[in-house]
Amino acid sequence: MPDCCVIGGGVIGLSIARELAGRGLTVTVMSRDAASATASWAAGGIFPAQPEIALGPDATPLEQFTAFSDRLHRQWAAELQAETGIDNGLRQCGTLALSIDDATAAELCDDLTRWQRLGIPCERVSAAAVGRLAPALAAAANAGTIQGGCFLPTETQLRPPRHLAALHASCRARGVTLIDHSRVLGFDLADNRIVAVRYSSPKSGPTTLPTECVCLATGAWSEGLLADLGIQIQTKPWRGQILLHRTAPGLLTQVVNLGAGFDYLIPREDGRLLIGSTIEDVGFAPMTTPATIERLERLVRLLLPETPFGAPERSWAGLRPGSPDGLPTIGPLPGIENGWLATGHFRAGLHLSTGTAVTMADLMSDCEPPLPTEAFSATRHRAGAVTLPPG
Ligand SMILES: Cc1cc2nc3c(=O)[nH]c(=O)nc-3n(C[C@H](O)[C@H](O)[C@H](O)COP(=O)(O)OP(=O)(O)OC[C@H]3O[C@@H](n4cnc5c(N)ncnc54)[C@H](O)[C@@H]3O)c2cc1C
Repeated sequence: MPDCCVIGGGVIGLSIARELAGRGLTVTVMSRDAASATASWAAGGIFPAQPEIALGPDATPLEQFTAFSDRLHRQWAAELQAETGIDNGLRQCGTLALSIDDATAAELCDDLTRWQRLGIPCERVSAAAVGRLAPALAAAANAGTIQGGCFLPTETQLRPPRHLAALHASCRARGVTLIDHSRVLGFDLADNRIVAVRYSSPKSGPTTLPTECVCLATGAWSEGLLADLGIQIQTKPWRGQILLHRTAPGLLTQVVNLGAGFDYLIPREDGRLLIGSTIEDVGFAPMTTPATIERLERLVRLLLPETPFGAPERSWAGLRPGSPDGLPTIGPLPGIENGWLATGHFRAGLHLSTGTAVTMADLMSDCEPPLPTEAFSATRHRAGAVTLPPG
């Protein structure tokens, strides 16, 4: 019987499993979908720039948690490379946050105020300077498409599919049992404790796995399993679509964000260029749509009008796990003695995954986590939190 059964093979479940196994626990991870069907695989992997100095008391719990997770990523990337030989692509590439119209200019103004409050290195740049920093953008700057922007030299990116492969390999090396293609159906309870997980797989059919404890990390699909435990927490799916082109390596080196970063270009070192994205409330429909792919195609040609593009290499969509108040939920399941929950990471699950794993492992082993966790507790949802739009 495992010490812990982690349900969910996305970045949150695998990171928690890796951390628990590293602390000597026997861990099983159960996941229903192929890695490529998870939000974690679909993500762009942008890690917003973080303050270089310790955050002040006015920083929000999420800002504190993000800075903590960000620092851990450097350590994890090195450990993953050493343990598995896989380079997860964590790079400080910098970002150009650009304005192309009044809306993106206003978003940039708000962001600049926040970056300055947090002490995040950033520099206002003219359109001409954008062209000098990223020569591929000079044509759009000269044409007046790009009005100006901010340069954030310390922004970072990671390659999500590689990071997932590294987590998988690290989990295996640490003795984690991975049960793939298994759909968890529900739980057997006795005296407010989960005693077994009921699941079904093509190989074994309906099966029961006894366990000492359960950690739910099922992303956008968490709500249904929580309901099985009598707990109501909304984890609404928010679809995001991405288009992938191949370009010459080095065409762009910085991430390019428009305004608050709902639209972006992410250049990889091998020349692949990701163009995203959308935030759509369409339920469990993880497919791309012709209208969005055409819009993303127009976007990249608007910003890089002189770059020759062939047919796109591919496109995909993923479902971000939403939450009622925009914050993740990390901690014990209310009313279940040996149940834990890590979900609702919305647009930042890759970034927050390291902090989530360490915090969860501390809570599960009765250690004081490095940061207070009240803001992320499952019980806050009982206080009648309202559903906020994303943003
Ligand atoms: C287009 C897009 C761009 C993004 N960009 C970024 C970014 O730049 N930076 C960033 O930090 N984040 C980004 N995100 C957000 C990030 O991807 C998510 O917050 C994160 O991946 C959530 O991870 P997760 O493990 O909770 O969920 P998922 O990765 O979706 O994993 C859920 C897991 O649960 C399993 N599961 C579900 N139900 C069951 C069941 N009943 N039984 C068994 N298994 C089950 C699934 O099979 C899957 O393995 C982006 C997301 C998208 C879609």
